[in-house]
This record gives sequence, C-alpha cells and structure tokens, in this order.
Amino acid sequence: MSVDFTEALRERHKWALEYKKSGGQVMGCYSALVPEEVVWACGFLPIQLTMSGSKYIKAHEYLPPYVCDCSKDIMEQVLDETYGYLDGFLVAHVCETIRGLAGIWRLHWPERFVHVFTPPVNNDPGARRYLKAEILSLAERLSDMGGVKLTEDNLKEAISVYNTNRQLVKEIYEHRATHPGSIPPEQIVSAVLSSMVMPKPLHNDMLKGFLKTLEFETPKMGTRIILSGLMFENDLINQTSLPHILEDAGAVVVWDDLASGMRYRLLKTKINKTDSPLDMLVESLLGPQTAPTRRPVEHKVREILEMSRRHQAQGVIFLIPKYCDPLTLEISELTNMLKQNDCPSLVLEISGSLSEGQIRTRVDAFLEMISDAFDAGADKGV
Ligand code: SF4
Repeated sequence: MSVDFTEALRERHKWALEYKKSGGQVMGCYSALVPEEVVWACGFLPIQLTMSGSKYIKAHEYLPPYVCDCSKDIMEQVLDETYGYLDGFLVAHVCETIRGLAGIWRLHWPERFVHVFTPPVNNDPGARRYLKAEILSLAERLSDMGGVKLTEDNLKEAISVYNTNRQLVKEIYEHRATHPGSIPPEQIVSAVLSSMVMPKPLHNDMLKGFLKTLEFETPKMGTRIILSGLMFENDLINQTSLPHILEDAGAVVVWDDLASGMRYRLLKTKINKTDSPLDMLVESLLGPQTAPTRRPVEHKVREILEMSRRHQAQGVIFLIPKYCDPLTLEISELTNMLKQNDCPSLVLEISGSLSEGQIRTRVDAFLEMISDAFDAGADKGV
C-alpha cells in the first residue's frame, strides 16, 4: 500500500467534512497546547487550523500588516468560509496575535463558539490545579454544545488513541534517525501535519501502513542537521523550496523540534494505575515541550544539545516566521547559548513563501561551514 501523507494533508478539509457527514462536530484548534484528547473524548473531531497559501484579500481589513502570515492566512480562510464547516474555535493563548484573532471572531460572530485556552507557564502544584480547572471548564462548554460529558473512561480511551499515534510517529522518527535520508523530511512533516487534520484512528492506520513500507537502506551520507521552529504547511503542500534546498545542499535531517513535528506533543502521555487520566493529561501538557516562551531558554538549550548529541547532529537550522513574537523573542538568547556550547546554528526568517535564492545561499554557506568544522574536528580526533 502506498501511503502519501502530503496528499492526505492536501485534502485537509475532506476528513473533517466526512466526519460531519457522519453526524459529528468539528472543532478548529490552534496550537499543540490545546488538550485535543479532551475534545475527542467529548465527541468532537479536533483539527488544527492550517495555512492554505492563498492570497490575503479580506484579512487585511481586520488585521494590521505586521502580524504573521499564519494568522492572516487563517483569518482569510475564516472570512472566505473555507472554515465555514467548523462548529467552533479553540485556541491556546500562545501569543497575542492568536488571542487577538479569537477576540475578533467573538466580536464579529457572537453566535460562534470561540474558546481561548490558557495553559500555565509554570509547572508546580498551583499550575496543575489551575490547568485542571481550565480543562474541566472547557469540557463543560463542549458538553453544553451537544458533546458528551467528559468521564474518566472516555478520557482514558482518548489518551490511548493519541498515545498510539505518538508511538507510531516516534517509530518513523527513530527510523529516520538511524537511517538518515531514508525518509524525505517533507514526508515526516506531512505525517505529523496530516495527523492534525484527520481522526486519529484513521491516521493510525495510515501510519501502520507506512511503517510496513520502510526499508532498512544504507544511511545516506550528508551533513546531519536538526530543524527547529515552524515549517509552514503550504510550503509542503505546494512543494516549494525548503526540503529541496536542504537535499540539494547535502543536508540530512536527523531530528526536529518543529511545531509541525516533535512539538506537536509527540511524547506519549504517561499512564499509570494510581493517577486519574486527568492528572496524566495535566502532566503531559506541562511536560518537557520546547514550545517558545513556555519555559526558560536554558531548558530548551539543554534539550536541543541532548537531541544533537543523541543523533550526532552537526548543527541546527531555525525556521522563524516573520512577525512571530514567541519565536523571535527567544531566538537570539537561544542561538548565543548554543554557540557557547559549540553547537552551530542558522536562523532563517521565513514568511508565507520562501525566497528561494536567498535561502539557498545561506543554507549552502552554513552547511559548508559546519561540515568543514566537523572534518577538522574529526582530523584532530575530537
Ligand atoms: S505569532 Fe507565531 S505563534 Fe502566534 S499565530 Fe503567528 S506563527 Fe503562530
């Protein structure tokens, strides 16, 4: 069976529309910090809002020019009714832009369900109590909308479905790490992104089919890198430049820390016999994610260095969208700290569509620099 995640992503509305046809409700979510398991347990299909890559025509009337392409694109799709099938919006308060978008939706369409979920930054008993209350209040609103009541059983079941998905994605990541170059980076990002727009049980079947097709080829030689930040889905759907630039330049991606990758809470929620499913979900939401501005930069540096050591990466490429405050705010401290730890990095400011020539030159120069440094280190036996 041939499994094409990019095609599944290209058909991103199909899955939700089919779910609606069978009588279900669909919730448009933004950010991995939204507890999708709760939405699923309450009988809704949670899908992440994704970019279309089309031109902004009406969004400019509502948003200032200096907001990220992602928010403009989502706004445009809400205004042109691409997302007209959604029964509501659930966004995590990860930045002021997305919070502002939710505010505009509430103001202009007071009849629509719009919920801002605010995850805490700290990880202490107070944060846990607060997060539990946030989750329960969300579940109550979903139940008022015609969803089923949140129970220990349906939440446990939802966590289990999500954990299966995480486990299967992890197997793909591990395969790539041990056989660099065997799976194109765009296929891995598409695997994660398509999981954001499909019912997880269906996606789990796709992942199982894909894993069966993987071959244990000889690892491809190249400069081993980690990708971090945001890779826009429209760049994958439209098959624009970045994955090809990396390939042409001789880079092999060995791991990622992308919002459309590991940062989509891909670590399994730990399940044990003593804690309630709600406690376990709270732990997962407060867990070791590298989402920007949620934790001190030192933690993120430690995690990137650990990933880099484990997968023998030679450098990190950060993809930072223009006007994305959470990513921009920490990037200079982050790259400085990585430099102090001899981990070279390149920051690419990306927008809705990449400017190919400039990116190609910068990637080529960076890869040449890190592979020379690596060879020099190897000659010295470092
Ligand atoms: S500013 Fe960044 S985090 Fe916020 S909506 Fe835009 S891309 Fe997402």
